[in-house]
Amino acid sequence: MPPVSVIEENAVSAEHSIDPDSISSSAVAVTRALQDAGFDAWLVGGCVRDLLLGLSPKDYDVATDATPVEIRAIFRRSRIIGRRFQIVHVRMGRELIEVTTYRKPPNSGSSSSKSDNGRILDDNEWGDLHSDCLRRDFTVNALYYDPGSDEGYDQVDGLVDLEDRIIRMIGNPKVRFSEDPVRILRAIRFMAKLGFTVEEQTDIALIASKHLLTGVPAARLYDEVLKLFHHGNGETTGQLMSQYGVFPLLFPMLADDLDKPFELPELICNGLRNTDIRIRANKPVIPAFLFAVCLWQPTKSKIEQLCAEGCPAIPAIHQAAESVFAHVCETVAIPRRVWSIVQEIWELEYRLRDRRPKFIGKILENRRFRAAYDFLELRSRSGEAGADVELVKWWETIQNVDEAEKQKMIESLRGQSSRKPGGNRRRRRPKNNVE
Ligand code: ATP
Ligand code: MG
Repeated sequence: MPPVSVIEENAVSAEHSIDPDSISSSAVAVTRALQDAGFDAWLVGGCVRDLLLGLSPKDYDVATDATPVEIRAIFRRSRIIGRRFQIVHVRMGRELIEVTTYRKPPNSGSSSSKSDNGRILDDNEWGDLHSDCLRRDFTVNALYYDPGSDEGYDQVDGLVDLEDRIIRMIGNPKVRFSEDPVRILRAIRFMAKLGFTVEEQTDIALIASKHLLTGVPAARLYDEVLKLFHHGNGETTGQLMSQYGVFPLLFPMLADDLDKPFELPELICNGLRNTDIRIRANKPVIPAFLFAVCLWQPTKSKIEQLCAEGCPAIPAIHQAAESVFAHVCETVAIPRRVWSIVQEIWELEYRLRDRRPKFIGKILENRRFRAAYDFLELRSRSGEAGADVELVKWWETIQNVDEAEKQKMIESLRGQSSRKPGGNRRRRRPKNNVE
């Protein structure tokens, strides 16, 4: 075993101390229970990184030499999950702590298998602390900390990179990206979340390996896409993904030519910014809104084409949505239940623009009203045709007036049913009013 460097309080610098009060008591309890049973136990990964940076960790991971069966035996409220990568979920208090047995890196003579193109297929060969460290992705994600003794383990100079704010792949970056191309998205996510830069060799390998993302199972990419956009810095993440040419790899229907530089459409930028603001204000966000925004452009084109062929608007929306769904699921497997909500948002947003007086009451009661209104507002702010400011104002006002005033607003709509608020011609049954 290589020498263990210790992250004692103030040992490296004042920045490298962890305030014991900032650590989740459940995570501490899990490490203590494992140690009391005679095993090693460390906090590891993003939680140590974030604690050292003074951030609040999203979740806690514990690394141990206990096997999943031994971990299960210690914690009553625990279960083994995963096949490709077995971990134990331990419930402690109201928290869920992920406990992982030390692994070996996949090419260290273990039985962990790789596919022909170098991807790891399973990773369940137990190792020791040293090998566990080397199989992690970035140096700043390979810091181990024992809250009981206040000792740390830093085999790969993660602390130095943390201080320099650098994302550096452990080992050969090209090999490590090909083992698991999702690390490309993780690197981008950490750049955006932490404001770190990528070390040069890691950066070169990232760019050279990005095409491997198309070989990642679509279900895994769905999970990763949510993580990319739901951590509070989604707009920066989206910008980085487009700069690196990764955005159109995940959503090929957004780009005419994958070899040309891709610029993030304004609607998507604004949508990601909205989501960031909501997350920072602790407001709920739904995956469907994100996909309604990201996939509107190709859907809109398809709707316009169908309407030009004589298809009425609502069936055109559904038909277009189905064709985009089939296409996107080849790369990112959006669950059907999420997609149904995407469709509801698009349909309702159309009805907001259509504003038929007899439907206004029902529209306001619709459970997707808020999302559809936000989508309309976003389209308006992004300068999209058909979503004019007056219309947004009208819907904003009607949500906040009393019943009598609401009826008045609906009545006045009846009076001017041949005109849209923006001054556009309005037919009783618009067919092509979907832009
Ligand atoms: P966050 O939880 O803030 O998104 P994280 O770094 O904790 O970031 P997790 O997905 O919680 O990410 O993973 C915990 C740790 O497991 C990581 O810090 C890293 O050490 C290791 N890890 C996760 N995914 C991979 C991967 N694809 N390849 C190698 N190591 C990984
Ligand atoms: Mg984590």
